[in-house]
Amino acid sequence: MKDINILWFKRDLRVKDNEALVESLKDRDILPIYIVEKELWKQKTYSDRQWQFCKESLIDLRNSLEKIGQPLIIRTGKVIEIFDEISNKFNLKGIYSHQETGDYFTYKRDKEVRKWASMKKIIWKEYLQFSVFRGNLDRNNWSKKWKKNMEKKLLLEPSNINPIEIDTGAIPPDNFFCFKDELCEGRLKGGRENGLKRMDYFFSKKLNSYSKDISSPEKSFDSCSRLSPYLSWGCISLKEIFYKASLIKETNSKMLKSRLTWHCHFIQKLESEPELEFKEFHPYFQKIRKKDNDFLKLWSEGKTGFPFLDACMRSLNFNGWLNFRMRAMLMSFASYNLWIPWQDSGSVLASKFIDYEPGIHWNQCQMQSGTTSINTNRIYNPIKQGKDHDPKGNFIRKWVPEIKHYPDNFIHEPWLMENFNSTEYSNSKYAKPIIDLSKTTKIARKKIQEITQIDGYWDISKEVYLKHGSRRTSLIKKKNHPKKINIKPKGDLQYELNLEL
Ligand SMILES: Cc1cc2nc3c(=O)[nH]c(=O)nc-3n(C[C@H](O)[C@H](O)[C@H](O)COP(=O)(O)OP(=O)(O)OC[C@H]3O[C@@H](n4cnc5c(N)ncnc54)[C@H](O)[C@@H]3O)c2cc1C
Repeated sequence: MKDINILWFKRDLRVKDNEALVESLKDRDILPIYIVEKELWKQKTYSDRQWQFCKESLIDLRNSLEKIGQPLIIRTGKVIEIFDEISNKFNLKGIYSHQETGDYFTYKRDKEVRKWASMKKIIWKEYLQFSVFRGNLDRNNWSKKWKKNMEKKLLLEPSNINPIEIDTGAIPPDNFFCFKDELCEGRLKGGRENGLKRMDYFFSKKLNSYSKDISSPEKSFDSCSRLSPYLSWGCISLKEIFYKASLIKETNSKMLKSRLTWHCHFIQKLESEPELEFKEFHPYFQKIRKKDNDFLKLWSEGKTGFPFLDACMRSLNFNGWLNFRMRAMLMSFASYNLWIPWQDSGSVLASKFIDYEPGIHWNQCQMQSGTTSINTNRIYNPIKQGKDHDPKGNFIRKWVPEIKHYPDNFIHEPWLMENFNSTEYSNSKYAKPIIDLSKTTKIARKKIQEITQIDGYWDISKEVYLKHGSRRTSLIKKKNHPKKINIKPKGDLQYELNLEL
């Protein structure tokens, strides 16, 4: 039997700057494979829009690999069964992949694969995809490690892969999955080629207006890099973006680089504690919220009666992407005003994002729900956000056409119109607010504050901080944290993301 290595593509769907690919080729021929796992795609956080993006990226990768000798092999099923099958036909020496910090499903699957590989005496080597580190970690030196890794040279794509005789397999048809029917017509298309085009467009045309437009729901759609899905599916490496940004010495590129740090900072938390996907950072916040499927549905469809909030949700439903501030506002509303568990709303949001990245996503969901105990809590007011970022209501009118004829001065709060209940307006079929905003905000704030006063709260918070907190700013010690934290105390500043690099 022929000796081979498997190059297991996961969320690193590219040939350039892919260390696992380069290393796998060093000592023998390889089988480059992607496995479509039905069980993974069945999870609530996954959706058709993500699969379409992934599929486009697989086609692009298959073409790129074919050009250098061996097209991508696609298999459908359970990873161990497929590896087992391959090991019956070839003398499987090694498995090479990137080190994945995915959701709990992939965490458990990888543990099983490791067990299987060691039983079969097959080496599994994993390489860094981002600057996220495994094993015992000293958070104090994390930034230095991050920078050192990011400044490593970019790896070239291999010039040749020897072909191996094997059926390359087909990408499964869409009806193989059980996704609910949806259209996401505005989404970006997957694949490295499209990612590179987007990256060039951003750096050549949009970097200048990046910081200015970042929170505007309308302008950010063009002015933000929107490279997140290409990073999440690995069509482009983080280092490639960092490298491009480093060539430009100005404030906006510095700001972009700081966001790339945050990207890994959040994923690192999930790497250090995989349970964060469903378990609160601080245990005192467990089970404080109540399931409400009616609220969840109205929120998810953009039918809460708060025009700006609904406009953001509907644009997300159409585009599969939304800027940071608007994501935070949607999450905050679900957690504080509707008081529904962040695990429920977080799963719904995840499935809408084509850039779903578990490490960033679940951390952000918890941060915007006040359950970390180490971040400043912010309850977003959707009316104020609308007035600040869509003063004339253009964005609202685009996404909530039922109310496009409402006068400018009432577009954010139509219920204040004297004749709101008249047929002219009730005919618009736009819902009345489903909750009382100021009342629910007050109740939520009180509930969260009461929890912080329970005995032992701050001791646990300190532990959370020591394990996960960023060491860059001194927010926690100076303002919030009554317990003295005595290693250079620095907290997470979620809204001012501009770290000095
Ligand atoms: C509730 C909630 C859920 C989120 N879920 C995800 C998710 O599943 N996947 C995801 O990639 N981002 C997520 N984010 C973070 C952020 O909103 C997106 O990374 C950003 O909007 C992507 O757009 P962009 O590529 O244009 O970002 P840019 O502003 O151009 O930034 C470049 C890159 O930096 C990283 N980045 C930017 N902002 C952040 C941030 N606040 N935290 C961590 N990394 C950041 C991303 O990788 C991004 O692609 C979430 C934010 C919130 C509030």
